[in-house]
Amino acid sequence: MRTGWGVDAGPVGADARSGTRLAVSYSGGADSMAVAAMFPDAPFVHFQRVSHPRVPNRWTHYRSEVLAQLVHKTGREVHVVQSDLEFVLSRPRPGFPEHHAVTAGALLLADDLDLGGVAFGHELGSRWLGGERYTHRYSPDNPMWAADGPWGRLFAAAGVAMVLPVGGLSEPVTMRMAMESDLAHLVRWCLRGDMDGPCAKCAKCLRKELILAAVERRPLDTPITAAMPAARKWQEPPPYGGQETIEYGCAHVPGIEDTPFAKAAEYLRATPESVRWLEHCYPPALREIPEPWRARVEAYVDENIGLMTEDEARRVETWGSR
Ligand SMILES: [Zn+2]
Repeated sequence: MRTGWGVDAGPVGADARSGTRLAVSYSGGADSMAVAAMFPDAPFVHFQRVSHPRVPNRWTHYRSEVLAQLVHKTGREVHVVQSDLEFVLSRPRPGFPEHHAVTAGALLLADDLDLGGVAFGHELGSRWLGGERYTHRYSPDNPMWAADGPWGRLFAAAGVAMVLPVGGLSEPVTMRMAMESDLAHLVRWCLRGDMDGPCAKCAKCLRKELILAAVERRPLDTPITAAMPAARKWQEPPPYGGQETIEYGCAHVPGIEDTPFAKAAEYLRATPESVRWLEHCYPPALREIPEPWRARVEAYVDENIGLMTEDEARRVETWGSR
């Protein structure tokens, strides 16, 4: 804590704690389901947002109870931790289950559950292609998610390593993994929908439908038109947050010129060849995974995905600089 933030904490015990199990920080989305597919025996720890008695709820449209119900349908060992912690955080922007704070439950339960690591669904884009997703540059030193960054070191010091099993994989790959898994029917990236499914009308649903359609090589199926607010940013020129994924979608969705992404596709001019690097694993992401879990991820990647060539890895490392 002192190295990362200049804060002293104590007392410091004689023996560092450790544990043997890996928990999956479950958000319900495709990325954490992809992690779950790699680790079929890992327990889920789900952070459920609940209201704070005094801080107004800015997310009244988010159905956090739906995700908490869905996680119980997975048939896995599940620990739901309710917290109003998000309401008292201001930066980095809270409000999505991809903040370090969502692991508060796993950290506090670490001894009870014998946890030695907590796995996040952060993929190539959020780990390596922009620290906060919107910087649009190669980010080996990502302060939030690098294993040797301030957070990674702090998690390791607490004996609960921050593990990114899909850190070298793009969103199209995690989407495919999630949709091919036995938990596919429970995948839910939208926090607005009810038990029957995602809302289909929000900006996030539109983006995920682009990825899903691209993975399935089929036309886009959405009620959203280019004139609607949910599609506004795709009418403007890049850069876009998570742009590599938009490029993949534009390259692989048939009839993209008749969708809300028509303008973006014109700007990006992506082709199946230009986005092929996104179908493979970025090797340095594997080296970041702590020993006890690395072999499992390497075997999965070897069997199902394959590593990037040097040329493909260079696409990661020059991202945003051309
Ligand atoms: Zn939605």
